[in-house]
Amino acid sequence: MTSRSAAAVALLALGTALLAVVAFTTPWQPSPEPPGGRTPVSVSRDFTAQAQAREDRFHRELRPWSFANLGLGLLITLALGLTPLGARIIELVARPLGGHWAWQAVLGGLALGLIGQVIALPLAMRAEVILRKYGLSTQTWASWWVDTAKAWAVSAVLAALGLLIFFAVVRAAPRWWWAWVAGGAAVLVFVLSFLYPVVFEPIFNKFTPMPDSPLRSDLVAMAARDGVPVKDVLVADASRRTTALNAYVSGYGASRRIVVYDTLLRQAPASEVELVVAHELGHAKRKDVLYGTAIGALGAAAGVCLLFLLLGWAPLLRRAGVADAGDPRSIGLILAVLGVVGLLAMPVQTLISRRIEARADEHSLELTRDPETFIQVERRLAVKNLSDLDPHPIIYVMFASHPTAPQRIAQARDFARREGDVLRSRR
Ligand SMILES: [Zn+2]
Repeated sequence: MTSRSAAAVALLALGTALLAVVAFTTPWQPSPEPPGGRTPVSVSRDFTAQAQAREDRFHRELRPWSFANLGLGLLITLALGLTPLGARIIELVARPLGGHWAWQAVLGGLALGLIGQVIALPLAMRAEVILRKYGLSTQTWASWWVDTAKAWAVSAVLAALGLLIFFAVVRAAPRWWWAWVAGGAAVLVFVLSFLYPVVFEPIFNKFTPMPDSPLRSDLVAMAARDGVPVKDVLVADASRRTTALNAYVSGYGASRRIVVYDTLLRQAPASEVELVVAHELGHAKRKDVLYGTAIGALGAAAGVCLLFLLLGWAPLLRRAGVADAGDPRSIGLILAVLGVVGLLAMPVQTLISRRIEARADEHSLELTRDPETFIQVERRLAVKNLSDLDPHPIIYVMFASHPTAPQRIAQARDFARREGDVLRSRR
């Protein structure tokens, strides 16, 4: 069997495994239908015209900039990868140091990354201005620049290391590198997912254990009742950056923790914080992070096989002006392939994510048996975070990681009707 046909077989096998894991772990029906059919999704039932108008204005203002950022980013990636431009830039930046392949890999990767970042910078700054105008961002420009610099530094170090190892493997095993890199990429996804909460999150936020309080005891007791081992609940100092309300669970095993934004603790009553944490416990209980990481690892391995097949395709290499995959001047082409694959994967990722989020919502309803507070907290979060209440279908399919607030509220009303709870009308 040649290396190419082996890679094609591996791609097929990994793709099938990926589909199987997705099919079996995604809750396609996160909540049972109540007698009499599902509650219709309504924006106006729970949100004032004023709240709708404000959210609409905010998105109208922000969207051109975020779409320009996305579109321009993709355009630059394609221009650098599908023309000899990227290869020339890489050659140029490594020439003063002798043009060794390792310098090309490191400096070339950094140069291409920097070009994208510098062009995206004014658009990101414009978005930040809009976030401040609507009171969502509490950052000063000084702290914004520190954040941006930290994010650049983290991705530069990871990219330089990754590219160096990648090209060393490709050059050592020109025909079978895909097998090594695919295995390495899958392991790396697990390692990064494990390290992310303990190594990377503290670079951007400070986490402190939630101080002893009736709320903390209630949260720990609720977790115990739920059968989810939670050693600690942490508070993130999100308020130094945003007014948005949130909580999340990250990592798994020993690194799993529930994190509550300090903004949520300050603004929402204890019953609402409990509901948000109950949702997060749903993620922990169903091992959503672990399955998500497994899907990511399979996807990464499959992506490497696809990359190998594409990098062996002469017309594509000619287009990028490079001889073979072992030539670090192919970084632009690699980034272009990854960019397109990533974009194509987005609707699938968001679809899976929305189903998983709906299951966590259902879990929070079952755990708290309090759909009324659920509806309150959904309204508070959506109004405060200026969530898109009625997104355009294309935006929903491409970018919505969660069901909309009106969809989540309708699910809570389904639960209330199914469970026969009395849900007092709030308006
Ligand atoms: Zn969630």
